[in-house]
Amino acid sequence: MASQGENKWVYSFGAGKTEGRADMKNLLGGKGANLAEMANLGLPVPPGFTITTEVCTYFYANGKSYPPELKDQVAAALAAIEEAMGARFGDPANPLLVSVRSGARASMPGMMDTVLNLGLNDITAQGLAKRSGDSRFAFDSYRRFIQMYSNVVLDVDHHHFEDILENVKRDRNLTLDTELSADDWQTVIKGYKKVVEDELGRPFPQDPEEQLWGAIGAVFGSWMNARANTYRRLHDIPASWGTAVNVQSMVFGNMGDDCATGVAFTRNPSTGENAFYGEYLVNAQGEDVVAGIRTPQHLTIAGKQANHSDLPAMEEVMPEVFHQLDAVRLKLERHYRDMQDIEFTVQQGTLFMLQTRTGKRTAPAALRIAVDMATEGLIDRTEAVKRIDPASLDQLLHPTLDPKAERTVIAKGLPASPGAASGKVIFTADEAEAQAALGEAVILCRVETSPEDIHGMHAAQGILTTRGGMTSHAAVVARGMGRACVSGAGELRIDHKAKTIMVRNVTVKEGDLITIDGSTGEVMLGAVPTIQPELSGDFATLMGWADGLRRMKVRTNAETPLDARTARKFGAEGIGLCRTEHMFFDPARILAVREMILAEDEAGRRRALAKLEPFQKQDFVELFTIMAGLPVTIRLLDPPLHEFLPKTEEEMREVAEAAGTDLQRVEHRSLQLHETNPMLGHRGCRLGITFPEIYEMQARAIFSAAAEVAKGGNPVTPEIMIPLIATRKELDILKDVVDRAAKEVSAATGQELDYLVGTMIELPRAALRAGEIAETAEFFSFGTNDLTQTAFGISRDDSASFLPDYQRQGILEHDPFATLDADGVGELMKLGAERGRAVRPGLKLGICGEHGGDPASITICEAVGLDYVSCSPYRVPIARLAAAQAALASDTVKRD
Ligand code: PEP
Ligand code: MG
Repeated sequence: MASQGENKWVYSFGAGKTEGRADMKNLLGGKGANLAEMANLGLPVPPGFTITTEVCTYFYANGKSYPPELKDQVAAALAAIEEAMGARFGDPANPLLVSVRSGARASMPGMMDTVLNLGLNDITAQGLAKRSGDSRFAFDSYRRFIQMYSNVVLDVDHHHFEDILENVKRDRNLTLDTELSADDWQTVIKGYKKVVEDELGRPFPQDPEEQLWGAIGAVFGSWMNARANTYRRLHDIPASWGTAVNVQSMVFGNMGDDCATGVAFTRNPSTGENAFYGEYLVNAQGEDVVAGIRTPQHLTIAGKQANHSDLPAMEEVMPEVFHQLDAVRLKLERHYRDMQDIEFTVQQGTLFMLQTRTGKRTAPAALRIAVDMATEGLIDRTEAVKRIDPASLDQLLHPTLDPKAERTVIAKGLPASPGAASGKVIFTADEAEAQAALGEAVILCRVETSPEDIHGMHAAQGILTTRGGMTSHAAVVARGMGRACVSGAGELRIDHKAKTIMVRNVTVKEGDLITIDGSTGEVMLGAVPTIQPELSGDFATLMGWADGLRRMKVRTNAETPLDARTARKFGAEGIGLCRTEHMFFDPARILAVREMILAEDEAGRRRALAKLEPFQKQDFVELFTIMAGLPVTIRLLDPPLHEFLPKTEEEMREVAEAAGTDLQRVEHRSLQLHETNPMLGHRGCRLGITFPEIYEMQARAIFSAAAEVAKGGNPVTPEIMIPLIATRKELDILKDVVDRAAKEVSAATGQELDYLVGTMIELPRAALRAGEIAETAEFFSFGTNDLTQTAFGISRDDSASFLPDYQRQGILEHDPFATLDADGVGELMKLGAERGRAVRPGLKLGICGEHGGDPASITICEAVGLDYVSCSPYRVPIARLAAAQAALASDTVKRD
């Protein structure tokens, strides 16, 4: 192999020695590193070698050429396989055949190219026939090779080959591939070779060496194909990583009935159940299982029974090999300490392992596996908490079908990816994407999906296929994306031309509504009502572990009783932001609000405010009662007055009548209040400065409510928050207003009142002057929506028209209104926190902008040292888990 000082581009495995390890994924790709690891574990891996990802990088940096040392290193590694297998590449009597496969750092299933049976030509095919004693197998393998190689390497369209095969079958009156004889395959091969010659003007390459380098080049080339590029974009995989190429001795699952090939998961990837889970086919090659052409059989008897299959399980057909495979399963799980996705082949009763990798799983399965593995002692609880992607919890919070709802089930397929989804029937990925862009919910309906469909699958709410098993492309990809999926609903007939789905006497047309339930496999007509999930079991267990690890508290942004209750159910530890203006928009109150805004003097305003005060008080009584002693931060009125102005003449008339004035005066006052830049205008604390009676009324309502609830035996400590403070003076003035209201209510009710007055930090000036502001403020809450808006000078309301260009051109990696801009806005938060706490040690700090529910932003909040994050109710569980992971990452884990 590589001599001293020479670059090493090739790593052997299984051929006498193994040079790679599982932790060399960056260099060898996931497949190559794990093949080496399995060989190191003593598992039966066919010998082979991996050409490193660095060769891919070199290939693209050097005009698609190879490093000069590569040829010799490949030749030496190939010789090692020949030696291990006792066969020679191109040998007429005893030919070595290899597979050539891609293998990037991150798994990209089906996105890049693969060539199997490489090394066959007119002569070696005869040799293989003689040596195996099975000429049918040999010629079937040769025709597969010509078809795959021509398609992948020579770019000949596969429909040519399909036509030839169909013609031969028709001539012979046969329906199944397995019915073709050796002679039939010879006829097919002749046809295939002629197609290649006609299409390319040169014969199919006979030289194995030429075949090998052609395949290696095609695999490297496929790193940049359109579907790989799309997949990388969707999964944030950098193009600079490159792929490795794995060249491995072929083993055959298609040499007879004592042969098989299959794919399996060491636990159920849909439910997480600790049961061996997989599919296999007797007398078949790898691609047959995932292609969905033949219906795969279950590995275990339990799997077969659970899926009501009549086909025998591997456990019954090949008990010995099955038990060997089951032992491999346990060994791999113990070694990797995670659920594995494996591929295997049985050649004449001997088991070979072709792949292992961490298995993709649904969110419920991820939870169950993490909790079970921690309980089994394979991992600890900290590791279990780290393994769950907080964003994936979203899938668990999604609705399921209401069991009481009427439903018309038209078919049952496989429960391939859980969750219920309703939408319009759409037949192509492009149309699904186009409809989704118009805001339509769609169900992508296909006979089977292929990697070309991923953009449509991503855009769809759910995916329905009529062919393919639980490990079919549709099933695997849907689970990874968190889309509901029913696969293999074979009763349905999809007619692409007529754009219909037919089943018995029912015809569903394109655009009709259907519902699929990915947890049961049912397909239903119309949109079936759904209900919210129960959050118990593994979810509750894991969330409990996460809660034990996090330092930051998680509160919610809520102003309605419904939101407050939902948030408590999801584990919110208080309200971090109650936006009081939402209470003002209520139809029963809006008239009084308009009357207040349009009043021409303080007396008029006070009259209108007096109408609002009882409503406000009642709002707070309800919130305090629901939150039962948990902290509640109430923000005084914030939005531009402009937003409340009456718009139609009728609305103006109503206000005029209620205020006892005339239409003209109302119109005139509306014009006066009109603003050019309302977001930077008369809003936030500026309202309190010009109309202190508004804040006074709100403070009085809060304190009266607190006094009432406290009398009932539930003391509350309201946290009153002043928005959009830029200067300390503003806060001083408004705190006085609040303090006076507290004294007034205390005197009137005889109730001692505990409360805090704090501010939002949502303007850069406030962050910079946080020191002096903290002399008055008893807490800070970072309003990162406005802070982002004002730090960038980008309007929250108008950014959608140009931000996508900023992301496309790489100016901004993320939408800064969704994920905190760590360098700018994060820096302002850091300054604000440091300066505030320098003046008032222990100053309570929180965040209530949208970022409070975004996992990446929560990591920044941990680093800034916030006491809590606050987010919308449905993101509370995500924030709880993300806060625990952030604490683990920065080693600020809560230790009781
Ligand atoms: C903010 O600005 O971050 C905030 C929470 O307030 P609002 O979104 O109501 O302006
Ligand atoms: Mg704000």
